[in-house]
Amino acid sequence: MPPKYNIHTSPVPNRFQSITKSGVIAWEEGCLKCARCVKKECVYKVYEKRSLDTRQMLDTLDSECQDCFRCVQNCPNRLIQKGLNPTYKVLGDHYWTPEIISSLWFQAETGRIPVSGGGYGGPFSGPGFDAMWTDMSEIVRPTRDGIHGREYISTNVDLGRKLMFLELGPDGSIVSPAPPLVEIPLPVIFDILPWSPPREKINLSLLECAQSLGTFTVVRQSDLTPDLEKYLPHIIVHVDGKPENLPPELIKRLRMIEIPDSENVMAVQAMLKEENPQLVVIIRMPLNSNASERALQLTGQGAEVLHLYADEYGLEEVDQPLFIKERVKEIHLRLVEEGVRDQITLIASGGIAMAEHMAKLIICGADALTIDIPLLVAMECRVCRRCKEGIACPVEIDQVDPAWGSARIRNLMAGWHNQLLEIMGAMGMREVRRLRGEMGRAMFFEDLEKEIFATMGKRG
Ligand code: SF4
Ligand code: SF4
Repeated sequence: MPPKYNIHTSPVPNRFQSITKSGVIAWEEGCLKCARCVKKECVYKVYEKRSLDTRQMLDTLDSECQDCFRCVQNCPNRLIQKGLNPTYKVLGDHYWTPEIISSLWFQAETGRIPVSGGGYGGPFSGPGFDAMWTDMSEIVRPTRDGIHGREYISTNVDLGRKLMFLELGPDGSIVSPAPPLVEIPLPVIFDILPWSPPREKINLSLLECAQSLGTFTVVRQSDLTPDLEKYLPHIIVHVDGKPENLPPELIKRLRMIEIPDSENVMAVQAMLKEENPQLVVIIRMPLNSNASERALQLTGQGAEVLHLYADEYGLEEVDQPLFIKERVKEIHLRLVEEGVRDQITLIASGGIAMAEHMAKLIICGADALTIDIPLLVAMECRVCRRCKEGIACPVEIDQVDPAWGSARIRNLMAGWHNQLLEIMGAMGMREVRRLRGEMGRAMFFEDLEKEIFATMGKRG
């Protein structure tokens, strides 16, 4: 058995004061000047350590407060209150909510799984991934062993085309040519960012982290600079120019490359593989109503890996879009129906904001996935999209120290990896490869709704 894959973490402090959900409001007017003020009794010494962050013109009170409410409850004249922070409420948007952003910040800072402590207080169902629940019927196992206990749970996945059978020669030797396969220890690849300030240091952070985790970062051909050369074993070059302009020496040194889907995509794949037969070629194709047909066609023509992408909200970029999990499910089931699913690897991306989304997409049929915005958020991004408009980034992400950025992303990935182990442990699964397409281990709100309510109201 291979050694257990473990991501080591250490606390990586914020560079900027984080935006907290609530703030302390302490009135001076009416103060009784008690001999022993409740502020002095704060066990976290928040009032004593209080200072002004001159760079951001922010009082440190709010970011240091641990929300114990001791001072709020004990001030005899009720002069201390906690109020919701209006800046927190407007973070992100309807999908990248303040709760998701602050949870990603917490994981990147600490490397720990976010625990609410008071149980789940959210709605029972909602749109997108919230309309899907996983079956935790084996929950007794992880509580007995712990996720890092004696039972081995593998999160390794293979990227590439697989043989359906082996051909043997007259002497019993294997004659089927084995297609190249790349194995990664967790089913996550770092994708091209949808927006960001200048990317030099950001890319270095992603690459440094991908290398330390044993996974890959997708880098645009046009962003490849000589200083990235040492990371080539962990780079997937996304061909955004003419493939024939790629230097053959570069193609020979790569393990994976990504090309956009097009009419002649299989010819481009053949040309690249002629240069480097061990290269795994990924075809990046958009999710839409034609995607399952196209996936089937490309599988038949010898494609190795399909990268199915939706937008940053997990939606197809068409009128009347479907959410990513629905379309991935459809594509997976179509390939299963045609008996070719195991030949090809499916990578999915778009709208993956939390660790549970990763597990849910795999259950819907993806082998692996790519993430983008969470990587920026790990580096304190506020999802304000100012950089998209060319406005300066409020948290200067273009200036990050790559060692700091890499450590923050590493912490986030440790949190996600641990949550994936928790989910699989609770499902009684020991292999993420086996989780793929295990839809029988999940419940879908739409199906339940149909099953339970469809016959209601029908008479006779
Ligand atoms: S709420 Fe608790 S942690 Fe926050 S300032 Fe008051 S006593 Fe300190
Ligand atoms: S904080 Fe805003 S400006 Fe900075 S990277 Fe994030 S979205 Fe862009």
